[in-house]
Amino acid sequence: MEKRLQELLEDQVNKELWSAYLYLDIAEFYRAKGFDGLHSWFEHQAQEEIEHAEKFMEFLHDSDVPFRLKPIDAPVEKFDDLKAPLLFQLKHEKLVTSLIMNIYEEALKEHDHMVTRFLDWFIDEQFEEEKHSKELIDRYELLCDSGLGLAKFDKELKERK
Ligand code: MG
Repeated sequence: MEKRLQELLEDQVNKELWSAYLYLDIAEFYRAKGFDGLHSWFEHQAQEEIEHAEKFMEFLHDSDVPFRLKPIDAPVEKFDDLKAPLLFQLKHEKLVTSLIMNIYEEALKEHDHMVTRFLDWFIDEQFEEEKHSKELIDRYELLCDSGLGLAKFDKELKERK
């Protein structure tokens, strides 16, 4: 595998773990305020990000690319209200989509179709992540901004399996 492509894939392992870190930080933000459903939603998101990192690690291993894990950046975002983390999630998922598209572009340039085929799963996944992030904002706006009740919204999330 071409060197630049290896570096981008290695870096993506770090970005996925960083995403898990950011979502755990958000989960704690909600737990501290007593919202168990929102806590559980973001905890679940964090677990998915760890699984994403592991998929990249497995692919690197199977492609005979040696790598080591790098330090993870601390979460720096400050949330002023309950809606802010939901808006942040959508912004963050769009960033992750752009990172994956960037790796895809590099793989196309190198005609590395092992990598493009591997990344297809992530492109579908990012489509879903962005969709779910938008739906969460829509539900929040419908139930909370309109005053129908944050408790109902929170209860809905707790029922996610
Ligand atoms: Mg991810």
